[in-house]
Amino acid sequence: MVLHQGEEFSGIVVSKRDYKERDLLVKILTNRYGYKTFYIRGAKKRGFRLGAIILPFSHGRYLGSINDDGLSYLSTGKEIDQYQNIFNDIMLNAYASYVLGLGEAAIKDDCILASQWYRKIERALQLIDQGVNPLIIVSIMEIQMLELFGVAPEWRFCAVCGNQRSSFDYSESYGGILCKNHWHLDPNRLHLDEKTMYFLRYLSDIDLDVLKSVNLSEKTSIKIKRALDVIYDDQVGLYVPAKKFLNEMTSFDFAFEKGLDKTE
Ligand SMILES: [Zn+2]
Repeated sequence: MVLHQGEEFSGIVVSKRDYKERDLLVKILTNRYGYKTFYIRGAKKRGFRLGAIILPFSHGRYLGSINDDGLSYLSTGKEIDQYQNIFNDIMLNAYASYVLGLGEAAIKDDCILASQWYRKIERALQLIDQGVNPLIIVSIMEIQMLELFGVAPEWRFCAVCGNQRSSFDYSESYGGILCKNHWHLDPNRLHLDEKTMYFLRYLSDIDLDVLKSVNLSEKTSIKIKRALDVIYDDQVGLYVPAKKFLNEMTSFDFAFEKGLDKTE
């Protein structure tokens, strides 16, 4: 067990839960150590001095002692802000929780992955907080995080012939996309329509830092989501609690059934 004292890091408060009578365990995504759980002693006492910096969806700079294996400790925070809209809106809350849950499943406490992905997760929450279509932000994170789960589809060209200009479909068994000439090789391809495929490929390469807004119909957003649900179910097999809640909240299934057979 190694305790790194007096460490400064960027962080986003992921969740907190009661611990003993007066204490809390607060999970924070940090940019240097990944997801760490902090033991906050006396947190439930009135006027507790760290109360404001451990509110849900707070983010900023933190100081503390990081434990490699067990619980870490928080001393103070500065320039702490909160994603207010996410905090106040139950739907945005669900989307943001899912992004953080997905990140946790992928990054855990891996320092290198944390340094690579912290900024993207932070930016995703920022965009959700600003009101950019949260379904698309979640889809972008899902597509781009596939590689962290050992699934790294090649979205740019056909897995068989390298063709970059064609109609494409996604093939799980080929681990990428197939051009129309090679669809016959995989009868179990996902049978995605051209528009959904176009946006999956487009979103796989989009830079969240330069993204300002997304102009996609709800129907297309949902089709993209459903395609990613299939890929995640079949190829990743991940269970993130927030996803179930998100699905229930939005009744995607119903909307999808209604919209599936009509072309746009
Ligand atoms: Zn091909």
